[in-house]
Amino acid sequence: MKKPKIIWLNVSLFIITFLVAVIAVPYRAFTHGFDSTEVTFAIICFIYCGMSITAGYHRLWSHRTYQAHWSLRFIFALGGAFALQNSVLHWSSDHRIHHKHVDDNDVDPYSAKRGFWYSHIGWMCREYQAHRYYDYKNVRDLQKDAIVMWQHKYYLPLLLLMNIGIPVAFGLWHGDLINSLLLIGFFRLVMSHHTTFFINSLAHIWGKQTYTDKNTARDNGVLAYLTFGEGYHNYHHIFENDYRNGIRWWQFDPTKWLIKSCQWLGLTKNLRVSPEDKIEKMRVAMVLKQTKAKLKAQPNAEQALIYLQQEYELLITKINAYYIIRKQVLEKKREHLLAEVENSDLMTQYQELKQRLIEQRRNWQLLTDKLG
Ligand SMILES: [Zn+2]
Ligand SMILES: [Zn+2]
Repeated sequence: MKKPKIIWLNVSLFIITFLVAVIAVPYRAFTHGFDSTEVTFAIICFIYCGMSITAGYHRLWSHRTYQAHWSLRFIFALGGAFALQNSVLHWSSDHRIHHKHVDDNDVDPYSAKRGFWYSHIGWMCREYQAHRYYDYKNVRDLQKDAIVMWQHKYYLPLLLLMNIGIPVAFGLWHGDLINSLLLIGFFRLVMSHHTTFFINSLAHIWGKQTYTDKNTARDNGVLAYLTFGEGYHNYHHIFENDYRNGIRWWQFDPTKWLIKSCQWLGLTKNLRVSPEDKIEKMRVAMVLKQTKAKLKAQPNAEQALIYLQQEYELLITKINAYYIIRKQVLEKKREHLLAEVENSDLMTQYQELKQRLIEQRRNWQLLTDKLG
């Protein structure tokens, strides 16, 4: 099959910025040096670009996992133009297709099944998407957002303002225009590009399939550090309406922390989370599947398989029982019956079921560790 036409604008942009970042920037650092103010400002700009994509483009606009005040949306829209990743409208349209048709080489715009290079950057280098480039049917909701449409309409002047205006203004203020253009202009852009591109490439190749193996998305704690928390991509593909990607407190997800902190400031609201019992059941079912597969490869594993299945069913029963009563307790507490609840039969029952679930979780862990 003949390959589509090369998009020279994108290709030259990627090549030139990359070469400047890997040749001119180190050369300048060696011969001239960058001071701490320049480095600090470059890091701030890098974080601003990255989080505008993860918290704004991705979790706010593509997935509607929370609602944000117009001022925050405005900041994200400018940051997205700074990150040079197309308009919110276009990015979200691509991303919704990615989720709906993940790994379908003909439809998923950055299908990981087409390899690392394609999903990382190759998909933007040729006219692969020409047939649907201006089709925004799947983002009709976003077309009602004035900031999205404003950014889409003025995307070109905005990207120039952010990518040239900011480095030039900083360089003139700080007194070294070339340093600023190299570090805040080129180096920041290339770093920002490739770290976000990793979410489409590495996050579909490298890591664990904690919740499902029906798609290529992976959970990867290391990658989370490079992608502002988007490394928990296996979770994200299953629970895409959740504003979190790293759901445990110790998982590195600064995008989640930003969205949550903004809620305290009144800038975000209606943060959506997936039901905990559903999350736990998905995870446990995956462990069951993986352990079964390992056991089946071994001789005389029938007994172990039966035992594993029994323990799994016991765990699911205890999860169901615990979450039902927990819901009742929370509802009662919400009805301001706290004092009554604390001393009630319901509470005793709740504590008992909680303890049973904790024990069963421990048994399950030990058993699957032993068999797996
Ligand atoms: Zn997504
Ligand atoms: Zn993905």
